[in-house]
Amino acid sequence: MKITGHTKICAVIGDPIEHSLSPVMHNAALQHLGLDVIYVAFRVRGEALEDAVKGVRSLNIYGLNVTMPHKTAIIKYLDEVDPIAKDIESVNTVLNVNGKLIGFNTDGIGALNALRYNHADPKGRRVLILGAGGAAKAIAYQIAASNAEKIVIINRTGEKAKELAKFLRKRFKVKIMGKQLSTITLRKALKETDILINATSVGMRPYNDQTLIDKQWLRRDMTVMDIVYDPVETKLLIDAKNIGAKVINGIDMLLYQGAESFKIWFRVDPPIDVMRKAIIEELERRTGNAS
Ligand code: NAD
Repeated sequence: MKITGHTKICAVIGDPIEHSLSPVMHNAALQHLGLDVIYVAFRVRGEALEDAVKGVRSLNIYGLNVTMPHKTAIIKYLDEVDPIAKDIESVNTVLNVNGKLIGFNTDGIGALNALRYNHADPKGRRVLILGAGGAAKAIAYQIAASNAEKIVIINRTGEKAKELAKFLRKRFKVKIMGKQLSTITLRKALKETDILINATSVGMRPYNDQTLIDKQWLRRDMTVMDIVYDPVETKLLIDAKNIGAKVINGIDMLLYQGAESFKIWFRVDPPIDVMRKAIIEELERRTGNAS
C-alpha cells in the first residue's frame, strides 16, 4: 500500500508485544478493504503507559488494541469506558473520536462469537471454564449474559474462581459456581459439561504437551474450546479431536475479538477468512513450517 500524509494509524500496545498476531491480522483486513490505515505494534512498559496514552491523543492514533499488562491500568487514562469493559475492569480496544478516547472490551464477545460461529451457542448449555484470570472473566461474563444453563469455573486458586462466580451471580440469573482445581472437581464437573473452555495458559508453547484434562474424562458429545492459540492445536484439542468431540481453537477467539475491534473503529465487517489466512501463514512462518 502507498503510505501518504493521509494514512491513519492503528496500533496495539503491550509488553511484550513482538509476538502479537494483531498487526498481521488487521493489516491483511485493511489492505483487503483498501482502507488508508496501517496497524503497528508498540512495546509500552508499565511506567510509560500514561505517556503512551498522551501520545495516542497527540499523534491522533485512530484506534488502539491493548494487551497484557495494560488492560486494567489503561482505564484511568481514558475519557469514557463502555459499561461492560468498566464492569470487568478490562479494556482491549480504544476508539479515538477527535481526541476523546473511549474504551471497550471485545475478548468476551470474541469468544462467544467463536462458539456461535462454530454452532456451539452456550444458551441453555452447561459450560465449564478453566481459569479465572482476565480472559476467563471476560468470557464468563458474556456466557453468563447469553443464558447458559449452568457455568462452573475451576481455577488453580480456588478463591479467585469463587470470587468470579460471586461477581457474576450478582449480575446474572444463571447458576454459577467457582471451584478449586483438583482431579475430583474436574472429573465431577466434566460429567455435567456440554462446553469446556480452557481459559488458562496451560498448553502454551513451549509446554505443548501439558493439559489440565485427562483424555478419559472427555466425551464425543462435548464441544472443547481452547483459547491458547500457539500452538493452534493444543494437547487438549488433540485429545478432544481424537475422541470425536467438536473442537474450537484459540485462533477463532483471536479473530472474532479482532473483528469486533475492527467494527468499533471502522463500522464495517472485516473479511474473517482473509484475517484467518494471514494468521495461519504467520504462525507457519514462525514455526518454520511454511511451504
Ligand atoms: P491471566 O494471567 O490473567 O490468567 C491466567 C490463568 O491461567 C489463571 O486463571 C491461572 O490460574 C491459570 N494458570 C496458569 N498456569 C496454570 C497452571 N499451571 N495450572 C492451572 N492453571 C494455570 O492471563 P489471561 O489474559 O487470562 O490469558 C490466559 C491465556 O489466554 C493466555 O495463554 C493468553 O495468551 C490466552 N488468550 C487468548 C486470547 C485469544 O484471543 N485467543 C485472548 C486473551 C488471552
